[in-house]
Amino acid sequence: MQQCICVHLGQAGVQLGSACWELYCLEHGITPDGQLRASGDGRAHAARDDGDGDGDARHAFFSETGSGRFVPRALLVDLEPTVIDEVRKGAHRRLFHPECMLAGKEDASNNFARGYYTLGRRAVECALERVRRLADACDGLQGFVLFHAVGGGTGSGLGALLLEQLAVEYARKARLSFSVYPSPLISTAVVEPYNAVLASHALLEHADVSFTVDNEALYDVCRRSLELERPSYANLNRLCAQLVSGLTASLRFAGALNVHLGELQTNLVPYPRIHALLSSFSPIVPAERAYHEQPSVAEITRDVFEPASQLVKVDPRHGKYMSCCVMYRGDVVPAEVSAAVRAIRATRTIQFVDWCPTGFKCGINYQPPTVVPGGDLAKVMRAVTMVANTTAIAELYARLAHKHDLMFAKRAFVHWYVGEGMEEGELCEAREDLAALEKDYEEVGADFDEAAFEKVDEDDRAGAGVAAAGA
Ligand code: GDP
Repeated sequence: MQQCICVHLGQAGVQLGSACWELYCLEHGITPDGQLRASGDGRAHAARDDGDGDGDARHAFFSETGSGRFVPRALLVDLEPTVIDEVRKGAHRRLFHPECMLAGKEDASNNFARGYYTLGRRAVECALERVRRLADACDGLQGFVLFHAVGGGTGSGLGALLLEQLAVEYARKARLSFSVYPSPLISTAVVEPYNAVLASHALLEHADVSFTVDNEALYDVCRRSLELERPSYANLNRLCAQLVSGLTASLRFAGALNVHLGELQTNLVPYPRIHALLSSFSPIVPAERAYHEQPSVAEITRDVFEPASQLVKVDPRHGKYMSCCVMYRGDVVPAEVSAAVRAIRATRTIQFVDWCPTGFKCGINYQPPTVVPGGDLAKVMRAVTMVANTTAIAELYARLAHKHDLMFAKRAFVHWYVGEGMEEGELCEAREDLAALEKDYEEVGADFDEAAFEKVDEDDRAGAGVAAAGA
């Protein structure tokens, strides 16, 4: 069994982390204080390993102490104390290792440079030291998953710094990020575009895969599908936790048709920089409809490709898919999956780049989805998580870049960054990197020039003929 270490940074990272661990505990039969839940007959739930591999699979994300307590392989870090204090007072206060909850005293004031330079330099050593301890407790460390928002100061700045250091110290381990992007319309800080551009630059360089969501898409899904009038962060985070759970189910539960992390990367990332992924899942059914709606495999497959189900505000119809991975959970049979995927391909609702015509990967995990009791979502028998690499994600970067440029043209707010030790040139460099990325997406999405390809091929053959004749 291979293990993963989750690092939750900043307000969004830690709050989202709480929602994820709440769900993982339920899925693995672990109580909020880390004990195995007793089953109906009084035995410890799903015993150590009862043959379905679940006992062992628990160890991918949890370590087990000598007394049989399960402790998340997770680190929660914030530069200010309030969010971590909430966890310390909350229902899961005994779940996390106390040494793995690190809180500073000053906040990053929505400033990447404070998270990266002034405050971050001091905090990162401490965080790394805890990461090393978590890594030492793993006998098959697969990689790290960073949870953060890119629009604030801690998740973006300290996140960039930590990823940079992990890339040096654990160069051969996977570095994944689950990144919350600022909303296109609603903004919690004026300087979000600067922070997001700087963080994206770091992610491009130091992360292998970035799962992206944005809050506006999450709000929309909560309003439309869950019928919540005014969704809170808690609602958004529980929705995200379902997505994260779907994405990581194959790492946490045994299954013959699982898609493993390495496979996911190999199939979804054609070039190192083209690694920001769009995700969605289905069904999203409000809790009160629990017993009335059990959508079929065909329905959830259709739904997961609908633009309205996407958790990033970009329209996949404006781009081309390079690859996608569709991961089912629960009561699903392979024949239904094949039929559903064939139907999607036949309707041509999604367009692939012509150089990657077969970019579909499917996986099935028979572990059914779980929901938090009293939460917003209905318990369903089957669900699907889709994660795709599409050129449409370039819209997200273009939007950020535009907002960045409006402020940067006037050098507005730049002094806050310079005051924390950043050079203006770094903001320019990050912005240029995004411009280059937009070009990369244009290039990978461009139609394959078959005539030119054949011409090169012919020239090559002619060249080879000449060479052979000359030999
Ligand atoms: P940091 O602590 O300095 O990293 O700052 P935040 O994590 O608060 O980052 C700011 C961004 O995160 C803004 O775009 C907020 O809308 C978003 N945000 C803050 N808290 C949450 C949360 O709990 N969930 C989600 N989805 N977004 C959040």
